[in-house]
Parts: sequence; C-alpha cells; structure tokens
Amino acid sequence: MASRPAWAEVDLGAIRDNAALLVRTVAPARLCAVIKASGYGHGAVAVARAALEGGASWLAVALVEEGAVLRAHGIDAPVLLLSEPPGEAMDDVVALGLTPTIYTRRGLGAAAKAVASAGALQPLPVHVKVDTGMHRVGVGVDDALSMVRSVGQHPELRLGGFWTHFAVADEPGDPFTALQCDRFGAAVEELTSLGLRPALVHAANSAGALAHPRSRYDLVRCGISLYGVAPSPALASVTPLPSLRVALSLRARVSFVKRVAGGEAVSYGLRRPLSRRSTVATVPVGYADGVPWRLGASGGEVLIGGRRRPLAGAVTMDQILVDCGDDSGVRPGDEVVLLGRQGTEQVTAWDWASLTGTIAYEILCGISPRVPRVYV
Ligand SMILES: *Cc1c(COP(=O)(O)O)cnc(C)c1O
Repeated sequence: MASRPAWAEVDLGAIRDNAALLVRTVAPARLCAVIKASGYGHGAVAVARAALEGGASWLAVALVEEGAVLRAHGIDAPVLLLSEPPGEAMDDVVALGLTPTIYTRRGLGAAAKAVASAGALQPLPVHVKVDTGMHRVGVGVDDALSMVRSVGQHPELRLGGFWTHFAVADEPGDPFTALQCDRFGAAVEELTSLGLRPALVHAANSAGALAHPRSRYDLVRCGISLYGVAPSPALASVTPLPSLRVALSLRARVSFVKRVAGGEAVSYGLRRPLSRRSTVATVPVGYADGVPWRLGASGGEVLIGGRRRPLAGAVTMDQILVDCGDDSGVRPGDEVVLLGRQGTEQVTAWDWASLTGTIAYEILCGISPRVPRVYV
C-alpha cells in the first residue's frame, strides 16, 4: 500500500547512543528504559531493541498489554510494570514473565495465586512501590516494611525490588525531591538493617537520575531522556542532556500550493487575513495526527526549504496551511519539517508544548497511530 506523505522518522541510532550515554552517566546504577505508551510515540518494540543494544538492562511499561507486545516480538529482557496490574491480569503477568509492581495486599494475594495456579517452580519477583509524597500510587511509608514482610510470607513470591517515584524532580529549585529522597532513604535503611533489602532499589526518573545523583541507587527509570528530550526546559542544560540526540522528527510533503490575495484569510474560521499576497502551502497532516489545534492561533511554525514559516490559519483534522509569504519557490512535494531539524533551523516538542500550554511528553505521545513510523 502506498504510504501517505506524512511520517514520523525515528532515529534508532540516537536511541541507542542516548541509552549508552545514560548508562555511562549513571553507572554503577543500571538503566531501565521506560517505553510505555508505545515508547512515547516512537514505537515500543523498535525502541526497546535499540535501548537494549545501548546497554539498558531493564524495560518498563505501564500496562500488561504493553508487556505482551514486547514478548510477542521475542524481547525477553526483564520488564517492569510501573503500576500494580489488575487481579484479573496476574495470570498473564506470570505467563509473560513480567515483573509486577505491588502496593496492595489484594495485588500481592492475586500475584501469589497466579503463580501457584501456573505451577511455576521459581518464585515470581515483585517490586514493592512506596509512596514518598507524590500520592499517585504506592504503599504509605509507614506501611512499607509490613508490605515487604507480607511478600516474604508468600513462598510463590520474592522481593525483587523496592522503589518510589518523584513528583517534582524536573523543577530543580524545589526542595521536595530532597524530602522524598530522605523518606525513601530511611525506608531503604530500615530494610537493609533487617536484612530485607532487595537487589534493586530505585527511585529516579530522567529528571531524578540527572539532576539528583543521590537518587540513582541500583537502577534509574529513564523515559523522556532516552528519546533525547529534556524532562523540563529548566533541566535542558543538565549533563548529559545537551549531548543527547532527539530521536523523532515529524515530516510531511507539501500537497498543494496557491497564491492567495492580501486581505483573504485561510482555513476554518477565516480568523487572520493575510497582510499581503502570499504563497500558501497545504500540508497533509492535522490534529488527528497529533498536530495541536491550538498551534494555529498561538504562533506555530514549520520548516520548509530550511526556513521557519508560520501557520496561516487553523489546524484542521487532516491538513495545515502554511504562509510562505512572497516565496514562490515552494512546490508540491517539498519536504516539510513539523518537529525536527531542517538546515540550521529546528522545531522541538518543547516549542510546541510551550505554545500550547502542555509538556513535551504529551506532544510525543500525541503523535497518533495513523502517522507511519519510519525507522532510520
Ligand atoms: C513514566 C515514568 C518514568 C519515566 O519518566 P521520565 O520523566 O520520562 O524519565 C519513570 N517512572 C515512572 C513510575 C513512570 O511512570
């Protein structure tokens, strides 16, 4: 089937090199590559392979279904489930050899039962998650030891890990991360003194791993940095983020070009009359592909011919309109870069995020499945 002239190009060499650089940066801690949500829109299977090639030891996903996709493609690396799986999913967790996170007695019981009914010979490693202040999921700090002891009471299970998650590690001035580190450190010390410390203690996401070295412990769970994107603009210059390479670019080809008279407006709403006679290029990619609708009115730009060109009107479901001014050299078939580099110019996911009031994570995850991923 002919593919549409709009695609997301994913540089797997960049993913591999980013993984390798993160591995070197956090050593002796090891790298868990976070590839939930289809690898932040890059494609989970391809990213998993590239990250493992770069030296990642673990993979992490949000859903059992996401773990199943990895196993179906023959990826046998350890896979951590970042949330406690629903009880009904525990049989699949065991069959697929995924490592569940656990923070309820119910989840613990369901995991033990699934192992028993599978007749497994080895105990299933589980990672207990403690809530040190983000209050999303996790067992409370005061209940962490008792939960760890409960794991020990199930011969079907063993404690493989103990972990927490940061709420504001991407805001470098916020002292709350240090407080979370202290709470977590105290819990880890208690386990250690009782001989209960598991092999894998972990706390850090990308921001924690890079901006708070003491949070690295045995493993760091890096997502956004693996893709070459900073967790927040405030962290853009933290080592080694400037040396990481952005893996994804969003590209398309001009489908139609016309001259439009000054005073005319284009696209739904006809909101912004052109100040002069202009070349307006149509590009076949729209909000159904993940180009935010709000970019139309908030100063969105794309690159054509190595130059930044403003959107001329509203983003539509399948197409955008680009104001190329008096440049009559733009032709159907010309390459358009929506995210990424062209010549010396670059548009980043954070550029889109700041124009539309969101974060780069949402921009990347928002590039929809109908955009073909092309791996280079
Ligand atoms: C998504 C996620 C990560 C990865 O975060 P990044 O900021 O992308 O590095 C790590 N840990 C948990 C629990 C997550 O949900």
